[in-house]
Amino acid sequence: MNLTGIGYDIHRFAEGRKLVLGGVEIAHPVGLDGHSDADVLCHAIADAVLGAVGERDIGHHFPNTDESIRGISSLEILRRSRAIVEAEGGRIVNIDSSLIAEAPKIGPHLDAMRGKIAAALGIAPKRVGIKATTNERLGSIGREEGIAAMAVASVVVD
Ligand code: MG
Repeated sequence: MNLTGIGYDIHRFAEGRKLVLGGVEIAHPVGLDGHSDADVLCHAIADAVLGAVGERDIGHHFPNTDESIRGISSLEILRRSRAIVEAEGGRIVNIDSSLIAEAPKIGPHLDAMRGKIAAALGIAPKRVGIKATTNERLGSIGREEGIAAMAVASVVVD
């Protein structure tokens, strides 16, 4: 049986934070705020993966009230989401995703991000799509107040 999930996330920029996207630390004047490393791309992907098997969202599985996961790498959230899928007899087939940000430029980091996400999910880098677009200077994303991400995941369950 082929299953599909969707995920969306947005985080605001904050001073004094590292910027981590797709498991890759990117040099930038500000980072994203959050309980974990605030990797908005990994969060959208985790929600897509969990949603594909009918699980609740990452806010449920990895609540920001859980001190044990403060500052956790979101690649670890992906690994744990994959474990949930596999415990239910599922196998992740592919991911596709989009980052929406005015800055920084994502292109130079794409291959590294794909590699890290693929390793966390146990799939080939070719099965991890990451696109990037600006928001054409419109709205909060356009004013560089934060970064958003969308993702879909395909999972097979025998
Ligand atoms: Mg998030």
